Amino acid sequence: MRLGILGGGQLGRMLALAAAPLGVSVRVWEADARCSAARAAEIFAQPLRAELVPAFAADLTACTYEFEHIPASVVEALAAQGVPLRPPARAFAAKHDRWREKQLLEELGLPTAPCRAVADAAGLHAALADLGLPLVLKRRHGGYDGKGQAVVREAAAASAAFLELGGPAIAEAFIPFTRELSLIAARGGDGRIVSYPLVENVHDGGILRLTRAPAAASAALQAEAEAIMQRLLEALDYVGVLAIEFFEVGGRLLINEFAPRVHNSGHWTIEGAETSQFEQHVRAVLGLPLGSAAPRGHSAMLNCLGRHPEAAAVLAVPGAHLHDYGKTARARRKLAHITVRADSAAEREALLERLAPLAPWA
Ligand code: AMP
Repeated sequence: MRLGILGGGQLGRMLALAAAPLGVSVRVWEADARCSAARAAEIFAQPLRAELVPAFAADLTACTYEFEHIPASVVEALAAQGVPLRPPARAFAAKHDRWREKQLLEELGLPTAPCRAVADAAGLHAALADLGLPLVLKRRHGGYDGKGQAVVREAAAASAAFLELGGPAIAEAFIPFTRELSLIAARGGDGRIVSYPLVENVHDGGILRLTRAPAAASAALQAEAEAIMQRLLEALDYVGVLAIEFFEVGGRLLINEFAPRVHNSGHWTIEGAETSQFEQHVRAVLGLPLGSAAPRGHSAMLNCLGRHPEAAAVLAVPGAHLHDYGKTARARRKLAHITVRADSAAEREALLERLAPLAPWA
């Protein structure tokens, strides 16, 4: 079997690394021949254009992706080539526009922060009147990792914040959450769903810093998250791994957003779960049986930003694993992650204290 992956960043690389032991060859479509995935897969180093689809996809069993901005012309060309694109285009179409994503969630009756579309000054004033302060403004298009968003705490600052975003936005009520959680699950071609345990995420400046897995969460909260997940997966006729980010507020879950792909808050599964999210995704999109998502003890994942971590120092900590993505260092760029696995939550916390200073954040 041969799998195509659109995008050769760290997600494409970790998917390719997971595919290899299954006997699956991987071809990654990424303009930069020296991308993160280059040491794990064959790279199709061309710009992402529909007329190149036959050269990329002729012998593929299926095609998947690590990012959501896939041109419609490429989707159509893959279909014409008879290569299934999984997860289906419907899943990422909603992610091209935050307002569309919110509307989809509302149509499905799924809980999410109250929100308004803001196109101009009048829309901004209406949102302020309806939602009150504080307010979170987010660009409708192209924002990620906390980029393209602003928290407005005073009405006088709203116009400047909106203008600075430089385009249409959504305004969301500020949620005074007790913590942020996420759920990752896979749905196979046969409709079977396998969910990982809820994990707890800590963000810094809008970027994921730390994931603890499993989160300390009741069976009822896990069931609530899984019911939301099932509704979304089935509505999208989804195949592959999907992540949902939640705010926990008043003991209940509100969806922040979803990601139709493998997700940073699931990196711990490489060592910390029976089947990693990457292997699970490969299995799902190729129509192979899904694996167990049971956790192996207690894990934590630390992202490394801006500078590469010191391998020898990290690996000297018992239970620590390093994943360096082989990327050029740049400020605020995700370059690596560290996972630590332990037999108890207390032991994990002790190891985390040693590891946190070794995970650059620059
Ligand atoms: P996002 O890019 O939408 O995932 O937002 C990045 C981070 O900003 C989230 O992980 C939260 O920590 C914070 N955030 C986003 N939306 C809200 C909100 N409505 N209320 C409070 N915090 C938020």
